[in-house]
Amino acid sequence: MEPQRKRWKGSPCDTDSWIAYPVLSDEQSQDVELIEAFAAPILNKKETSRLVRELNGLYPLNELPHLKRVRACKKEGSPHPLEVLVCLTSDSPDVKVASINTLLPSDRVRCDGLGEPFVVKVPARLPLTRPQFELASKHWPTSFHEDKHVTVALRGELFNPAQKAAMQMYMMAALNAAKAGKDMGMEAVGAVIVNPVMERIIAVGHDCRGEHPLHHAVMVCIDLVAQSQGGGCYSFDRYPACQILSPASDTPHCKPDTEASSQPYICTGYDLYVTREPCVMCAMALVHSRVSRVFYGMASADGALGTKFKIHSQRDLNHRFEVYRGILSKHCDDLNIA
Ligand SMILES: [Zn+2]
Repeated sequence: MEPQRKRWKGSPCDTDSWIAYPVLSDEQSQDVELIEAFAAPILNKKETSRLVRELNGLYPLNELPHLKRVRACKKEGSPHPLEVLVCLTSDSPDVKVASINTLLPSDRVRCDGLGEPFVVKVPARLPLTRPQFELASKHWPTSFHEDKHVTVALRGELFNPAQKAAMQMYMMAALNAAKAGKDMGMEAVGAVIVNPVMERIIAVGHDCRGEHPLHHAVMVCIDLVAQSQGGGCYSFDRYPACQILSPASDTPHCKPDTEASSQPYICTGYDLYVTREPCVMCAMALVHSRVSRVFYGMASADGALGTKFKIHSQRDLNHRFEVYRGILSKHCDDLNIA
C-alpha cells in the first residue's frame, strides 16, 4: 500500500520550529509550597544520630516524610557543618521567642550539642518533577523519586527527529482537514486519530457544527473510528475531508484494554492530533474512548486539557492519558487568521 505520508501535502516546515511540551497534572505543575519550621545548628557532629533519634520521637514530622531531618550548613565559613530540623513552627504555636530550651523539654531531648534555633522555610510537599525538586532543595533537602520520562518531556526532548517528523505529518493532516472544514464555513479545527504502532492514520475529521452542534472535530474523529470498527452513529458524507483512512482490520490495536474486557475499545492505543485544545465534551469523549495520547497545536480559552481543566489527569476518572501541546503551534494558530 502507498505510504500515507505521500498523500498529505502541506507547506514544508522544519521540525525544529516547534517543541512538544507535556501538559502535566496540577500536582506536577504547581509552585513549591513552603511552610515555616525551626531548625538548629548541630554544634557537635558526634551527637547527630542521637539528636535525630530523640527529635524524631518528640516531633516525628509524619505528615512531611519527604523532608530530610539534617542538612549541610549552607553558610560559608560556618563553624558548624550540619543543621537539624527541630519542628514546624505550628508544632509550637505558643513559642513567641524561640530558644532551644523552650522548644525541647529536657526530659525528651538532651539539648547539648544543639545551637539556638532559627526559622527556615521548608517544602510542604514531595516534589514530583525535577523543576519542583530543584526549587524545593534551595530551601531544605527533600527526597525525590524522579520520573525520567517527565524530566525529558519537560525539557522538550522526549521525541527524536524521526518521531517529530511523523508527528508533524499527522498534524499537517489535521491542518488540511481544518482548512477543508473552514472552506465549508465550519470552525477551523481539524483532527486525526493515529495508530502509532502501525504509523497509520485511522480517521481524519474537521468541525462539522453546521450539521449538528455537537459535531466538533474530535467527536467526528471518534465516531469515524467507531464506524471503522462497525459502530458509530453519524454520516459525514457531506464532508469529503472527514473520512476513515484505514479499516479496523488493517490496524490492530497495540495495547488491549485490560480494564473491563480483553476486547480493544475504540481508541485504545491510539493517538489524537488536533489543531486546537479540545473542549470539555471532547476531552470526556477521549476519556471514554480510551485514547492513549493527545497532541494539540494551540491552546484554547475553554480548553479542557491544560487551560481551563486537566481532564486527562483527573484521578477520579477511570482512564488517564498523556497530553502534549505545541505541535506545529504557529500553523495551528494561523488557522484562525482569515
Ligand atoms: Zn469539543
